[in-house]
Amino acid sequence: EKPLLTVKNLAFSFQTYAGEVQAVRGVSFQLEKGETLGIVGESGCGKSVTAKSIVRLNPEEPSGKVKHGEILFDGKNIVELTEKEMQKIRAREIRMIFQDPMTSLNPTMTVGKQIEEGILKSGVTSKDEAKKIAIEALEMAGIPSPEERYRQFPHEFSGGMRQRAMIALAMAVNPKLLIADEPTTALDVTTQAQILNLIKKIQKQYDTAIVMITHDLGVVSNIADKIAVMYAGKVVEYGEAEDIFEYASHPYTWGIMQSIPPEDISNKEPLKPILGTPPDLLNPPKGCAFAARCPYAMKVCRCYDAPGFGVEGNEHKVWCWLYDERAKQMQATVNPIT
Ligand code: SF4
Ligand code: MG
Repeated sequence: EKPLLTVKNLAFSFQTYAGEVQAVRGVSFQLEKGETLGIVGESGCGKSVTAKSIVRLNPEEPSGKVKHGEILFDGKNIVELTEKEMQKIRAREIRMIFQDPMTSLNPTMTVGKQIEEGILKSGVTSKDEAKKIAIEALEMAGIPSPEERYRQFPHEFSGGMRQRAMIALAMAVNPKLLIADEPTTALDVTTQAQILNLIKKIQKQYDTAIVMITHDLGVVSNIADKIAVMYAGKVVEYGEAEDIFEYASHPYTWGIMQSIPPEDISNKEPLKPILGTPPDLLNPPKGCAFAARCPYAMKVCRCYDAPGFGVEGNEHKVWCWLYDERAKQMQATVNPIT
């Protein structure tokens, strides 16, 4: 069976007055039906742009542009579809939820009507049937008294309930893929845990594939099957979640996990926190984009991008020169961090 989603060497740029910002610079991953991929990285690393490319919600030409790559969803290349075909896909096959539910919810319409409208757009023809599904969706999303809530406006919902309503809106059409961009970032810790549990439940119940975007590795630790760690528009480490947690291999991953690098790499202090800022993607640096912040940077890092090296685990890969067989020798020429 073919994967549900294959992103192949995707690059996306924005045109600005200052020049071309290379937000995504060659990202690849695959997702099977019912699987969850966590895309993790700090703000500006290209994770949201990658996610929005899948539903084509980035600005299109002339301000935004897919430079190269393919996004194959259920056999169709998203990059080449017409806007009309895309609208169909967004209505029933790929739904996206955001940090701010008001991005998805219309403040002037009752929550129930909005969900119902979405269901009707997705191909259900009977209004009564749509209403029934909408109330079921509210209930599934853990909203008490769904029939009453159906008639209320978004402002009558609390933050956490609004998040649930947005999830109900997305899931009511039973999409094949749910893209969640920082869905819990604005919530308090308790509500955050509840929403994550809800997403986990949905995944089990509906066998939906999920792409979960987050700056917080902890958020995906319980949900993700696979994790892609992104830095400066590229995936720097990719693998099954268990392997990422057990055998984290990229210096940036060690930094965001605040973990101690394995001893055979170095006996340096843990990276806590990562100092410095990500590079300007208007003029991405030559070589490894993390070099300016990396305590292990070698001369080669500043000249050439590392290829992907296989490391411990299943399909676990890391894009870092430390895993080149010659690295030990190159360590002799480590550039001191200034
Ligand atoms: Fe650090 Fe070099 Fe690895 Fe980049 S390639 S993360 S600079 S060791
Ligand atoms: Mg973002």
